[in-house]
Parts: sequence; structure tokens; C-alpha cells
Amino acid sequence: MISHAHLDHSGNLLSLSKGKPVIAGSEMTREVTADLLRDMVRIKQMNGRKSPYTTRDVANIEACWWTRSSIALPGMSVNMHPAGHVAGANMISIEAEGRKILYTGDFCLHDTEILDGSRPKTLSRDYDVLIAESTYGGTVRPRRTELVNQFLGQILATIERKGNVLIPAFAFHRTQEIAKTVDRAMEDGRLPDYNVYMISNLAHKITRHFNRYKHYFNEEITDQRQPFNYRHVRWLRRTEQIKEPAIVICTSGFGHAGASFHLLTEWGQDENNSVVISSGYLPPDSPLKVAKEKGELVNGTEIIPMKAEIEHIELSGHADQNELVQLVKALNPKKTFLVHGEPEQAKALSEKISEMTEVYIPNRSEAYVI
Ligand SMILES: [Zn+2]
Repeated sequence: MISHAHLDHSGNLLSLSKGKPVIAGSEMTREVTADLLRDMVRIKQMNGRKSPYTTRDVANIEACWWTRSSIALPGMSVNMHPAGHVAGANMISIEAEGRKILYTGDFCLHDTEILDGSRPKTLSRDYDVLIAESTYGGTVRPRRTELVNQFLGQILATIERKGNVLIPAFAFHRTQEIAKTVDRAMEDGRLPDYNVYMISNLAHKITRHFNRYKHYFNEEITDQRQPFNYRHVRWLRRTEQIKEPAIVICTSGFGHAGASFHLLTEWGQDENNSVVISSGYLPPDSPLKVAKEKGELVNGTEIIPMKAEIEHIELSGHADQNELVQLVKALNPKKTFLVHGEPEQAKALSEKISEMTEVYIPNRSEAYVI
């Protein structure tokens, strides 16, 4: 059962691909997961690394995928519930042998620009076991509207000094969400007209699913004919086609490679430009993290000083501590297992909810009988 297409939840599917597994998940998750896995296989082959998997294995995964939101198996029923977080993300509830379990996957209760948050009222109550993410278990985050204002404010300040804005983003969901936010702000007049580009073949491919399966999104999006055909944002294949000054949304999300690494090198040296990081998590060695913390970029043997303004505005679609507590209150589970969080985040959440439910923070591969 796959909650959503992010590779930390779906990447391991390739190891099941040689058999005939039954995979359950939403249609959007199937389409995007297949695109991401094909891209992963292709990059490995391009880098000359040996991979035991081919695109044929990805096709097998697609063929074994059930997309119904309700599945009845002998002695067991499985139900999917919209989780917010990213397009197609689901919470998964399982009833079997007289037990009720809910796995949240990654989720959020608050609405974002293109997606409604998860609605706990539509779930049943009194679960025997809740398996919940705890990414922001110890953190109370600013309101979403505040973050979006900050994001648009940073873009506007850069436009006013005729600078370039680089926005490294993941090909799935964040790219489309940011493009739609900028597009809408230009329609509303919150931002003036400016060159806006997206550079990522993978994001381009994934955007087609966003237009096709628009019922996953909020009402405003569903009401539009082709909601992700933007009015102000143009697709480019290469950075050479950019007409400066410009706002560019591009991969890779951590700045390791592709257009984002190239533009970080080129634009990072000018103080009129800015780089907006939207990802919550940054790997310690990623160029964006090093640029933000040390003010430099390492390119082979060369160290380039970063003069551009680097702003980190976390637009991530995860529940924060308040939302996690709200979910536990609404569902009233007997036992709660906290996963998908750094130990200190999980511990902080555990302290908040320990009077409502028995809390466990399992180690990797640890087994529990429920
Ligand atoms: Zn995720």
C-alpha cells in the first residue's frame, strides 16, 4: 500500500518488481511513481552505474497497481483517505482480525494553495493502532498564508531591483504548486509581469497528470479547464533560453545538478539576485545547505562565494505539532507509533500526546504484535 509518490515512500517498489505484487494506491500516485522510478533507472544508466532494474520493471509495477480507494480482501478491508501533503496522497486504514489500524503516511490538515488539507472528520474513531508521521512533531509552524506572503515578498523585492530569482524545487508537486502560486499572483496583480520559467523535463511530464487528474485538487483548480497550463510561466528546455531578468523554477530540488546547480553558480555571485529554498529538509552536504550556511558553493575544486540573498521559506506540506496533536485527539487511538521523524521531533510529540495514547517510537526493523 503506497501512501504517495515521494521516493522515500515509493522508491523501494523496484525491489518488488520481479514478482507479481498487488500494489494499492491512488491513480495519481501510480502515474507519478512510475515517472519518478523511470527517471531513477535512466539516471543510473546514464551515469554508467549498474542497475538490476530496467524500465520494464517499472511497467510491471504499473500493471500490478490497484487504484480503487476501497479494497476488500479475505478477512481484511483497506480504505484510502485523502491526506493533503501532495497530489494523490492517502492515509490508509486497515481492518483485519478485529483490529483497526490507520497509517497516516505524510499528511497535513491545513489547506495549501492547490490542495485541501486532510479532514479527520471523514475518518472513523477509536483505532487500535495509529501509525503517524512525526516530521514536525516538535515544531509549531507559521500559518501557511504567512509563509506564502513571505515567499511572494522575497520575489517582489528582487523584481524591484531587477534581479533574478532562482527557486530550486522537486519535479513532483512543489514545482507545479509554486508555478501556480506565482502565476496567480501575477493575475491578481500581487506581482508585476516578469519573465517566469520552469526548467525540468520530468516536471513537465508530471504536470500532464496534474491537468488530467484535476479532481485531486481544491475547488478553484477543479473549476479550471487546464489549471496547470499557466499564463505567465513558460517551459524551457535549457538555461541558455532564459531572457533575464527572470524567475526560474527548476530541478534539482537540493541544487545538486541540472539547471538549479548551473544557475546557483551563475546567479549566486550577484547580490541583486535571490535564491528561495522551499524544501523543509536539506541534506547536510547539499549545495543549497552549504550555500545558505557557509555562503559558498563548491564546484569541483573551485569555491565560489555566494553574494545573492538566500531565503529559506519552508512550504512543506507536513502537519506540524498542533495538527499532529489535533489528529490524535480526533482519532482517539489506543496505541500510537511515531515514524518518519528525527528522534528529537518524535520525542517532543510523544511528550505532548502521552496522556491521550500509548506512544511507541520504533527502531528500524523492530516488530510489534498488535
Ligand atoms: Zn512525502
